[in-house]
Amino acid sequence: MIRQTRKVSTFTNMLSPKIIGAMAFSLLLASCVPEVGQTKLRTKSGSGVTSNTNDSVAAQNGRVLLDNPIILSKNPELTETVDLARYLSSEMYILNHTYLQQVGPCAGLTYCFEVQKDSTENSALQSSNKKWAFPVATSEFLEVNTFYHADKILNKFYENLYTLYGEAYDSVTTNNRYETAIPKTLVNFDSKFNFNWTSTLKYYADCGVENNALFDPANNYVCLGHLKKYPQIKMAQDSTVIYHETGHFLIKQLLNLRNDPTSGDPRTTYLGSTGSYEESSALGEGIADYYSYFMNNRSHVGEWALGRFLKQSRPISEDDALHPDGVGTDELSSRVSYPDFLSYDPNYASVPYEDVHYAGMIISHYLVAQTDDLVSQCGYTKDNAAKTITKIIAETLSELGDLNSKGIDNALVKGDPNTEIGRINANLNYSFDYYRKINPVNYRSFTQTFAKHFKNILSDSNLNLCNGTTYAKDRLESLLDKYGLLLFRTYNDHRNDANPSDSSVSNESVNPVNRTKTTLLKKSMIKLDERDAQPKAFVVDKQSQIQNLVSGLKANGIINDISPLIPSDFGYNNGNGVINRGEVFGLMPNLYNDSNVTMGGVQVLANDWDQVDGNSPCIFPTEDNWPLPSEGGVNTAPCSNKIFKLDQTNSEIAPVCFVQSGTSSSTQWITQTKFREKIALDKSLCLNSKNDKDCFLRVIKGADQANFSKINAKSNWFDTYKNPVNGKSAQISNNHLILFEVSKHIPPGTTFNCRMRVRFTNCDDCFHDSTRKSTDLGQGYDYVDSEYNGARPYKIIHFVLPIVN
Ligand SMILES: [Zn+2]
Repeated sequence: MIRQTRKVSTFTNMLSPKIIGAMAFSLLLASCVPEVGQTKLRTKSGSGVTSNTNDSVAAQNGRVLLDNPIILSKNPELTETVDLARYLSSEMYILNHTYLQQVGPCAGLTYCFEVQKDSTENSALQSSNKKWAFPVATSEFLEVNTFYHADKILNKFYENLYTLYGEAYDSVTTNNRYETAIPKTLVNFDSKFNFNWTSTLKYYADCGVENNALFDPANNYVCLGHLKKYPQIKMAQDSTVIYHETGHFLIKQLLNLRNDPTSGDPRTTYLGSTGSYEESSALGEGIADYYSYFMNNRSHVGEWALGRFLKQSRPISEDDALHPDGVGTDELSSRVSYPDFLSYDPNYASVPYEDVHYAGMIISHYLVAQTDDLVSQCGYTKDNAAKTITKIIAETLSELGDLNSKGIDNALVKGDPNTEIGRINANLNYSFDYYRKINPVNYRSFTQTFAKHFKNILSDSNLNLCNGTTYAKDRLESLLDKYGLLLFRTYNDHRNDANPSDSSVSNESVNPVNRTKTTLLKKSMIKLDERDAQPKAFVVDKQSQIQNLVSGLKANGIINDISPLIPSDFGYNNGNGVINRGEVFGLMPNLYNDSNVTMGGVQVLANDWDQVDGNSPCIFPTEDNWPLPSEGGVNTAPCSNKIFKLDQTNSEIAPVCFVQSGTSSSTQWITQTKFREKIALDKSLCLNSKNDKDCFLRVIKGADQANFSKINAKSNWFDTYKNPVNGKSAQISNNHLILFEVSKHIPPGTTFNCRMRVRFTNCDDCFHDSTRKSTDLGQGYDYVDSEYNGARPYKIIHFVLPIVN
């Protein structure tokens, strides 16, 4: 098993620090434009080999690989020495322009996208005679091949989006035909898309990274690398990799359809915000794989460089040959279902693996199965069915990513018809935090929103879009259930505006009879591991590890604010596994699943929340009977019966760590503010000199959540991911760690109690509010967003942290 060497993530959407360095450097090189169009290179024309040179084609033309070499050759064993010229297309139209730049539906930009070799080039590839034929072994060929496939998917995607707009809005009345998340302003009547791309999308077709391809959402480029072992094998030779990486870009476009980053609010949404494993990133990978299916209706992604040589390709349907026996769509086989398959890599099916790409296969497999069902139930062609699913993905992402807190057009807040704000993602000021961590996209929210739009379009008897009739809602629910994804009790049609006692904004219920495979667990089933010899948490405080971790997170813009009290070399970090003054440490909660069912999407939140009255910690009698009134806990009006505050500057919003004060006979738990006043430390000596709420022990914003893809029944995470083949223990990764700064000014011997909140995706009472029941089936509506700033949707856990010296 070569699993231990497989550290590099494939097809990532992550920033690579190396690439950022190269980008910055390229700004210094602004002299000449590379000119390659005149180069006369010839390949020998042997039998079956196409000469692909500029004198062999007409202007505007070239030759490409229409699919990846494995598919074109029909040979899964194709070797690294193959001459790919054998598999070139016939001469075909590429572009009528002297640079590899494409105009298109990107208002405000001269070019929508362009292709060049790598980030050190100063411009897109140029061909002054507009001929685009280059020998297959050249970077120029890779650039043309990338351009061809990028152009193909972007064209198909935007045509489909344009069609969706025409279906959602009546062109005469301009009224929407069904509840749509596509903004009415998306299309102008000059047939142009009216949303701004923030910048030209760039493709680096031979970008130099080894064994990888990636999309950088912050800097808007796709980077296609090569194999380390066989440098002539390139990611850009595989159209499915180009489609997948472009898919990441399209996901970003859709999430921001309702945002306008050029209008003064630069915030954009993306699937994945922590830079390491989280469920939204997994969804991003699965949806990006689906965009490859959208192009070729094939059940596999990445057969060539990734699959043939690295064993890192992915199926997107149970029918794919890579799946072992027992995985299939018949009743006796398993679907790639939630949450058990979150750790499933079909290339090494017996070894659990925590990785966003493989965890994303659950959604890609569901989406393909739903596509197939549209073919069988509604008589669609495969291509039309995939276009329809892609439209529903567009509706879903457009709604979920809305930072203006509307989600759809014409959303009305009850009693406040002028604002239309607050339906989703809390409110304007906190929508970004809500989107990223407080109520993030996960398998539940994505499929619930997807199912709602699917129902609104395909199960609507006014539209009758399925063979002249409607697609049965029971059928939708049953298929979701086969994937373990019927995780919601209502469709949450009106989100925060929903009201069980008001039929004008009531939610449609899921039929519970359809939930046979999906299991919803009680939040009380997650707890800290209390078994013998099990620690409550692991502390990572080795200087070099923390230095690497922090610099990586900073380079990727995930954290930015390290206290000036922490030395830049992390000199107080000593790797002794206990918490010392002056250091930065990572804390991995050791969580235990006490149920008999696997938990998915376990998330520990260590961000500030609504949990104090003044300087006293609230007691939440149902969720957390701490601290006792004799120890300083209060159950005053701001704590009980409260409307949870969305306003992060509100005095009731407090950091997670409290301080023990007083003698051993009269312990009191107080806020850090009160402790600072008590020991009369000047505020300027706090970790943040402007805010003494976390003066002494502070969770670093951006590194304030821990994510665990899944935890098996009666297990902790280490049990879940132990290698059953060689017995090796799983390694702690960034996604498991919450980062803290420790002030040098803490009196030695001080003890902190940090109160954090845990939830998981297949949890019933983490998302359904039992006090808000629908009238028909008695099922809980979803919590409103503001509740996620409080205690009720969570299991509360505590870490008592003594500061030794
Ligand atoms: Zn990816």
